[in-house]
Amino acid sequence: MKKILVLEDETNIRSFVVINLRRSGYEPIEAESGEIALEKLKANPDICLALLDVMLPGIDGIEVCRRIRASGSKMGIIMLTAKTQEIDKVTGLMTGADDYVTKPFSPAELLARVDALVRRMGADEEEKVSSEIKSGPFVLNTRNRTLEKDGQRLKLTQIEYLLIKLFMENPAKAMSREDILTAVWGDDFTGELKTVDVNIRRLRIKIEDDPTEPEFLTTVWGYGYKWGY
Ligand code: CA
Repeated sequence: MKKILVLEDETNIRSFVVINLRRSGYEPIEAESGEIALEKLKANPDICLALLDVMLPGIDGIEVCRRIRASGSKMGIIMLTAKTQEIDKVTGLMTGADDYVTKPFSPAELLARVDALVRRMGADEEEKVSSEIKSGPFVLNTRNRTLEKDGQRLKLTQIEYLLIKLFMENPAKAMSREDILTAVWGDDFTGELKTVDVNIRRLRIKIEDDPTEPEFLTTVWGYGYKWGY
């Protein structure tokens, strides 16, 4: 069974999430504080996905997310946010989360996101053939899931990796935001097209010399984006 960390300080929400994860065949690992979450992560290195509440006393969800990524882990991370300001904080700080769910959420909504992220990660793991895609100064290794620019390794989140892979596999092809959303997040993703823009913006900061004047990942006005190299 796949282990999922559930970091949430409100007991009601935590038990509701835990019950629903268990019903869907996951093994939830509970944590009521950021401090406990870090201990549980250490004790369970096979946790494949983390649900992190943003607002917590002490070490908050954003800090836990930052530490998970700082450790080099590529586990899936979904933030549980209470309001729009928190979403801005999550995306604004570029903490490396793959997705977010706004409270109050239904079990169906949360599980759809969890299943989608687990599936995306699984699909990548099955890709065992070592292959490199080269484009300009970039080398994408789809086995190691690494991206290098001019020989320098760039740290990417799951979503950023899937995004750049999509673009590098389709050079010079204009892709609509709808196409990108379906290819990267899956058919059953119920989020907004804005999600694409937010993640493209984050990716540009990592790959472009000047993210305000993108040279590689260019905008196709009124349509979507293109790998322009
Ligand atoms: Ca909370």
